[in-house]
Amino acid sequence: MSKMTLEEKVGQMTNLTLSAITEPSDDPLKVDPVKLREVIVKHNIGSIQNVVKHAYGIEEWHKLINEIQKVSLTETRLKIPFLYCIDAVHGTNFTLNSTLFPHNLGLAATRNPELVKLCAEITAKEVRASGIRYNFSPVLDVGRQPLWPRFPETFGEDVLLTKTMGVASVKGYEGKSLNDFTSVASCMKHFVGYSVPANGKDRAAAYIPEINLREYFLPPFKAAVDAGAHTLMVNSGEVNGTPVHASKFLLTDVLRNELNYKGIVISDWEDIKKLNERHRVAENHKEAVYLSVNAGIDMCIVPFDFSFYNDLIALVKEGRIKEERINESVKRILDLKFDLGIFERPYVEKEAAKNFALPEYKQTALTAARESITLLKNSDQVLPLKKDKKVLIVGPNANSLTALNGAWSYTWQGRKAEYFPKTEFTLLEAMKKKTGDANVTYKKDFKEITSDVKPDYIIVTLGEDAYAETPGNTKTLELPSEDLEGIRNLVKMYPNIPLIYILTEGRPRLIREVEPLAKGVLLAYWPGSEGGNAIADVLYGDYNPSGKLPFTYPRYSGELMTYDHKWLDEAVEIVEPEYKYFYEFEPQYPFGYGLSYTSFTLSNLKLSSNQLTGDSKIKVSVDVKNTGQRSGQEVVELYSRDQFASVTPSVKRLRGFKKVELQTGELKTVDFEISREDLAFVGTDMKWRTEPGAFDLMIGDLKVVLNYKGN
Ligand code: BGC
Repeated sequence: MSKMTLEEKVGQMTNLTLSAITEPSDDPLKVDPVKLREVIVKHNIGSIQNVVKHAYGIEEWHKLINEIQKVSLTETRLKIPFLYCIDAVHGTNFTLNSTLFPHNLGLAATRNPELVKLCAEITAKEVRASGIRYNFSPVLDVGRQPLWPRFPETFGEDVLLTKTMGVASVKGYEGKSLNDFTSVASCMKHFVGYSVPANGKDRAAAYIPEINLREYFLPPFKAAVDAGAHTLMVNSGEVNGTPVHASKFLLTDVLRNELNYKGIVISDWEDIKKLNERHRVAENHKEAVYLSVNAGIDMCIVPFDFSFYNDLIALVKEGRIKEERINESVKRILDLKFDLGIFERPYVEKEAAKNFALPEYKQTALTAARESITLLKNSDQVLPLKKDKKVLIVGPNANSLTALNGAWSYTWQGRKAEYFPKTEFTLLEAMKKKTGDANVTYKKDFKEITSDVKPDYIIVTLGEDAYAETPGNTKTLELPSEDLEGIRNLVKMYPNIPLIYILTEGRPRLIREVEPLAKGVLLAYWPGSEGGNAIADVLYGDYNPSGKLPFTYPRYSGELMTYDHKWLDEAVEIVEPEYKYFYEFEPQYPFGYGLSYTSFTLSNLKLSSNQLTGDSKIKVSVDVKNTGQRSGQEVVELYSRDQFASVTPSVKRLRGFKKVELQTGELKTVDFEISREDLAFVGTDMKWRTEPGAFDLMIGDLKVVLNYKGN
């Protein structure tokens, strides 16, 4: 670093998008040699990201990256290699023919952190095989606002679930060492408070009291920092009136000083400009750069021009930002490049390239999609379907790959089916593969159904097609009225034929009005490449479902409430002369819900001791038995409830979860360990504390009381 000029240093802090160096037409992708030199040689830019419009083939990636790298290594003064960055958020979604996994929301439903880690390991291999070593993933924002269009990218509404899956994902991406050709740098995003915009819109203002920020939103970042994550991206929105890109409190006091984070802080897309243009806390761009670098940003996704570069150089020359401050950021960036082995092996690594599209990846994608699928209703055991029966399946999502893969799938919005691998199956194709063409009749639209179709079962696919970020903003969670009307007409036409809904969606669309008309409801989230096969496997009983809801499925748009809400006057009837008040929290389906084709019973909930003192741990155990007719997996979830505390306690909080496989008749004992940290909460002094007193520990309908004695 001592050899670098100020311009060379600021170049390392500047991140541009690919279109800054390519010719305007994207097909085929062509680097513009003049622009390339303007960026890499003249402005010393140290990193580039993204695609222009859509995913590229692996050879195209190699050619592109080697071409840029050659200029960095042969035409710049210090020959510092450049770094390529990508969003590979549910698999390597910007390389053609890669394997896509369920989005994080579906992965959270698997309750299987080992599987989440494996999906991230495969993603890391395919990203690195593409010649890229830095991945902008995982999202650690806790999904507590289902209107938010990035809800599907979260691990759901619970803190422990987000922490556990987030850490599994970071470990999967980063592996044992970033230098290894199977690893990539991960990026914890988006620090912090992005996921709870007050109005539900993307990049909008959030109001989060510090006590809640610490209780619900910081812990996943803390856990991922402790797990060694190398980089972090900042929330594009604002929290309590301060855009996070300008918040020294959040980016330095909390992140660096409290969480002890040592890695890179990268801005989000254009967000330093937005301090001026959208948030209006900076009167011009230069002030925006001043505020954000001062707050703690190391690298800026500009991403189209040299405004950040020019203004930051000017600010240092004017003495408003010290060069030592620049040095701190540049050291972090160079360290990452060293850690990733880019100085030793700057070009695409041949050993890494071998790890692309291996057959076993598909198996993992299938397992992940299967384990995510959540059976929400199964009256009269309508499912599984018999393969020799006639099925009528209705709705465009039945024959769509985009509705199975959602956001970030070969294009940013995920809506262009022409870029999907030709080998993938839609749900309709997967069903036909199982039962033969004659047993499945497909109608895209309700209006196409004629009475000559004589099905034994009717399936209606509902939910959402793909969307990402701001274009995914929605005014409502209600289903389109045409769908509701179509279903009602269908039921009139076929009053005695069992009806099943399959929901492929990134956030819960409300089914309240038509739910009673169906006997079966399957939620598939956005299940990825193998989604069609996985849903068909569950439908026809080739796989026994085990997914559990990672969020509270709302029944009403006026009741978007999480399972860990504070005490309410639930089911209280107040009868007065003039009016009667009755209120009950009644989600469509509760957090943690999910049925199986077999049945399980829980018994014998026990504690190794009902007294907890100081730093000791107690063991909580419960017996779970498969009492049904087929083998299956069950998730055991342990909740706690602080009976009385100085800050109003939640009705319950998840403290542990374990997934077990049980044969018919088999019984297993499942253990959890509880320490005082597991029962802690943030006090009014903003510090974590566990207060002496009684805690209810609950698994299913079973409950025991634990007394915490203090030190
Ligand atoms: C998104 C980030 C993403 C970045 C880089 C932004 O629009 O908010 O999640 O990593 O773009 O592509």
